[in-house]
Amino acid sequence: MSSQSIHSILAHLHLDTDRGVWERRLSEVTSRDVEAALAWRPGTYSQAKLVALVSPAAEEYLEPMAELAQQLTIQRFGRAMRLYAPVYLSSYCVNRCRYCGFNRDNRFTRARLTVDEAVAEARILAAEGYRDILLVSSEDKAYIDVPYLTELAGRLKAGAHGVDPAACGLQPNAFSFIGIEIYQMSAEEYKQLFAAGVDGVTLYQETYDRQVYAQYHPGGPKADYDMRLRAPDDMGAAGMREIGLGVLLGLADWRIETLALAEHAWHLIRRHWQSRVSFSFPRLRSACGVSSSEFPHLLTDKNLVQMMLALRLCFSDSGIVLSTREPADLRDRLMGLVVTRISAGSRTNPGGYTDPDTNTGQFNVVDSRSPGEVVAVIRDKGFDPVWKDWDSSF
Ligand code: SF4
Repeated sequence: MSSQSIHSILAHLHLDTDRGVWERRLSEVTSRDVEAALAWRPGTYSQAKLVALVSPAAEEYLEPMAELAQQLTIQRFGRAMRLYAPVYLSSYCVNRCRYCGFNRDNRFTRARLTVDEAVAEARILAAEGYRDILLVSSEDKAYIDVPYLTELAGRLKAGAHGVDPAACGLQPNAFSFIGIEIYQMSAEEYKQLFAAGVDGVTLYQETYDRQVYAQYHPGGPKADYDMRLRAPDDMGAAGMREIGLGVLLGLADWRIETLALAEHAWHLIRRHWQSRVSFSFPRLRSACGVSSSEFPHLLTDKNLVQMMLALRLCFSDSGIVLSTREPADLRDRLMGLVVTRISAGSRTNPGGYTDPDTNTGQFNVVDSRSPGEVVAVIRDKGFDPVWKDWDSSF
């Protein structure tokens, strides 16, 4: 078990600051190092292996990396693709993240859903077949608080948590998996949500580079880098079944971000055996008041694929999540390789399933295909679309 904190691990490795040492190390990787990394215990983590796999030299090895990654994914997850959909609860925010359309300085008409309105959105998703739902909110603590989320989770899992399903127009246990992607909470609050039926929490560090973090988070509670870094350990301590990690791709050098992300995942896996760690790969997109061209570290498709393959080759049991931020053709190609959970038909505006034209979204969805169209592609690739998280049944 890891007894060191993630703060001291990152500081010791110079992954949170002074990253020049890593730029040099990555540039020195040779093709022989990449071949050795590919031969070394597929699916298991070592830092030297990951350095080789995310290096510029490994760009020539994407094909063998993809073959190996595909074998590992099918071995560990079968030919199954979990489908989920997000429900946006609020666009009010106290933070000033410079890359986000919901930041508090942006002027637009904000919206928040009542619990009844959120259940109405979920009902539409349930009718489409979804059993895996992600509740998303900006930092709107005054409204989206623990009692709100407890009530909502109870109604989405009605039957299992003592709520009469008929009263909310849902089948008993309509959702087998509830994830949340909201502001950071305390371990005690995560515990209460877990008891209410929330299964997993996703919270991105955004960037592991302290200076870049300070530059993009000029105000609000989220400006505290150290506090945010603690959150995944608090989720693990609360017993959450899934801990979702990620960086916002475009803020800093993706190769070094991947090294820090992997150290964070490895630390959590050793400490919280009951939680599965999953990775998401949000690439910066234009949003209301934000143009993605302002950001210096935007990734190419090839970089994104290399990052996903490298992480799969080091963490064979981790979920790999891909959202509708990515274009349809790229999502289709990645589905057969590494992705294990994918969203479809997403709306990023509160109330967007009930009325697609209502309210402003957090970012622009790129793959706007319907769930049915995405399911057809999944089947075409010889995979089974899975609407339910079977793990929760055991
Ligand atoms: S990223 Fe989240 S916390 Fe930051 S401004 Fe957007 S909604 Fe608020």
